[in-house]
Amino acid sequence: MNACYVQARTREKNPAPLRRTCGSAERMTRQEHETLLSDTERSQGMTALRNNVVAAQALADAVRSTLGPSGLDKMLVDGEGASTVTNDGVTVLETAKVEHPTARMLIAQSSAQDDRAGDGTTSTVLLTAELLQNALDLAEIGIHPAIIESGYRMAAAEAANHLLSISRDASKSMLEDAVLTSLAGKSDEGVRSRLSVLAVEAATGLSDGNDGRSPDESTIKRIHELGRPSEASKLVAGLVLAKQKVSPDMPLHPDGGKVLLLDGGISRRKPNLDASFTIRDPSMLEALQQQEAADVKARVDAIAATGCSVLFARDGLDDMAIAALDSAGITAYRRVEKPDLDLIAMTTGATLIHEPSLASAEDLGLFESLTESKWAEVNHLMLKGSKAHGYTLIVRGTSKVRIEEVERCFTDAVNVACNMVTDSRVVPGGGATQVSLSRHLRAWGATVAGREQLAIEAFAAALETIPMTLATNAGMSALDELISLTATQHEQGDWIGLDLVSKRQADMAEVGVVEPVGVARNAILGATEAAVSVLRIDDVLWASQDPSQPDLGGEVED
Ligand code: ADP
Ligand code: MG
Repeated sequence: MNACYVQARTREKNPAPLRRTCGSAERMTRQEHETLLSDTERSQGMTALRNNVVAAQALADAVRSTLGPSGLDKMLVDGEGASTVTNDGVTVLETAKVEHPTARMLIAQSSAQDDRAGDGTTSTVLLTAELLQNALDLAEIGIHPAIIESGYRMAAAEAANHLLSISRDASKSMLEDAVLTSLAGKSDEGVRSRLSVLAVEAATGLSDGNDGRSPDESTIKRIHELGRPSEASKLVAGLVLAKQKVSPDMPLHPDGGKVLLLDGGISRRKPNLDASFTIRDPSMLEALQQQEAADVKARVDAIAATGCSVLFARDGLDDMAIAALDSAGITAYRRVEKPDLDLIAMTTGATLIHEPSLASAEDLGLFESLTESKWAEVNHLMLKGSKAHGYTLIVRGTSKVRIEEVERCFTDAVNVACNMVTDSRVVPGGGATQVSLSRHLRAWGATVAGREQLAIEAFAAALETIPMTLATNAGMSALDELISLTATQHEQGDWIGLDLVSKRQADMAEVGVVEPVGVARNAILGATEAAVSVLRIDDVLWASQDPSQPDLGGEVED
């Protein structure tokens, strides 16, 4: 059951390959056994667990002070001296150069939480480390890891059920509150509330006609506008591109039409060969130009034959092509970047073509309107697709750094909002959920026969690390707050938590500190999985690397 692995201690970036697993050890010869062990440092049983818990705690300590709205920032400095200031747990962890395999497992879990739920990364790491610490305490008094694992799994399943029982269906303003809570500690208050409203609007709009699936936030186009306050950032339904028609005479289509997307351009073809020829007669030049014009016209005719009203081309359209498109009544845009073409394809249902002469009506997409407007001295086109409107966030700010910060913040916000489209239930923040779960698990655990009861109790205690850390980071007394919160919840219900703005206990629904149930659920289940995987390791073999041997990296032997 228990796993063991061999790890090179000296490697910097990538963990060393798995040389041999314990499973294959039976098939090794005695000599191989001796060679293997002479090459390694080994820690087994309790020592292995103790070392792993130390690594997990060290990692948790690196991000502990960032938890919550009063969490402090970390300055990350890379090898070249470039620095980033952040209070985002997962950014700290992913940037840090961490070698210890256990710590890397925890970082992977935190990244998975970020991918799945878009938030709750620091909480996951803190919870995993606490579950491991409490497991170690139980193991020290003789409880077998298999019993602890079983108790932890029972507790996690019960916690997931209890989460649903205390959750509430979110109204629109509660959705905004949940997004706002997820932005705690990021940017400033004005920007946070503006972005929460925009993120919910975008996620709700994108989810229309999406059959309840979580919308894809990458379909939101972003445009930067320097010189205005970030609070004035806005969301526009439709795709906005800083582009103008290749000819002012071409018509706009406010009532919709058909669009063709060309992953290329239209211009006179250059000869393939590096040949030169001399023109002696002006009629030859004329014939050559006529030939070129006919060639360009043939390609434009093929495009016109599809019935399209608008063409977006990734590359250039030369003057001959522009003239031909204009006389065919097609409005054209050139040098449209590939990601923008992909967005247009997504919202209109068009397919990108590479060769105009092969264009067909099936490649066309539909749009509801195409208009242009000018702001910040630049012409912008606005396209509303028929399949999906798409959205554009106009990110404003007084400096480039500020604009980038607002954009990162919006990405986090919209990720949370998009996840809430599939499940809009919320649970209280400010440590209320964890205190409620802990109270419930303690009472329920007492009814479970067997030693698993101790593990359930340890699980309940581990959850309390979240309210305690929130209180500590806000300069409050962790223990006093926890005791008082537990007592108040007993009287007034599960939604009483710590409001870190007023630094008082309050009903979290009233102060708007709520979290998507998916974030809380994923954090608990993910932390349990990570803790259990570390708990199952009872043998760690560190391969000491011979410095005279080159590191050939990555192969797995067996
Ligand atoms: P994570 O990476 O785990 O999301 P954060 O630093 O974002 O960590 O902190 C999230 C925690 O902060 C959650 O437990 C949330 O309930 C809590 N929180 C956010 N805003 C407030 C607030 N105003 N009052 C109390 N707790 C808050
Ligand atoms: Mg967060």
